[in-house]
Amino acid sequence: MKKINIAIDGPSGAGKSTLAKQLAADFGYIYVDTGAMYRSIGLYVCRKNIAADDKAGIIGCLDGIEVDLKYIEGTQHVMLNGEDVSDKIRTEEISKYASAVSAIPEVRSFLLDLQRNLAARSSVIMDGRDIGTVILPDAEVKIFLTASDCKRAERRYKELIEKGQKVTFEGVLENIRQRDKNDSERALAPLKPADDAVIVDTSDLDLRQSFELMKKVIMEKTANV
Ligand code: C5P
Repeated sequence: MKKINIAIDGPSGAGKSTLAKQLAADFGYIYVDTGAMYRSIGLYVCRKNIAADDKAGIIGCLDGIEVDLKYIEGTQHVMLNGEDVSDKIRTEEISKYASAVSAIPEVRSFLLDLQRNLAARSSVIMDGRDIGTVILPDAEVKIFLTASDCKRAERRYKELIEKGQKVTFEGVLENIRQRDKNDSERALAPLKPADDAVIVDTSDLDLRQSFELMKKVIMEKTANV
């Protein structure tokens, strides 16, 4: 069977990770969450009390960081210097740190090889912001998954409340808007669809409908591969 790489990009809260995970299980591919890698670096920086806007400080600590992905019973675990940080990186504070560190070129090139190597080894469904444009420009399938900011904030808010985190809807919406702005306006690897990406807008679709639509796109794109 030929190796297939699928790139799923899009803004925060569009459902990328949930859908990419489900599709990876369905197709038997490895799921790679690149946002988790940026979040791990954000967590490290936060723990070191380095300010999110201290570029030199962040670049200076990259040497002490090792990020890796482990798969335990099919589930991805993010390892930061050997520690499983999969849950600790899912807070609003670390989201902001991740967005800040991701605008630094040295941080992006630090993660580039790791991401490309994973895709070179196996068929992957990789989600992020620049997978179709920068990391895997030759991916067999590219999907740009999006939804309105209010819909995305609604979903994220529900998810965080269910996890017991103390957040307000307005705070989550503001965080999403700020990250959209940071991610799309940065000079390096900005968030934008690749020219050959299929745009999937999930504003008016539920999870099941989004899954079916994406699966259809993948089947069509890979039919002759
Ligand atoms: O996808 P997730 O929300 O977990 O990503 C956290 C942050 O990491 C994003 O807001 C974005 O700034 C950054 N990121 C990125 N490039 C990627 C994946 C994530 O810049 N490929």
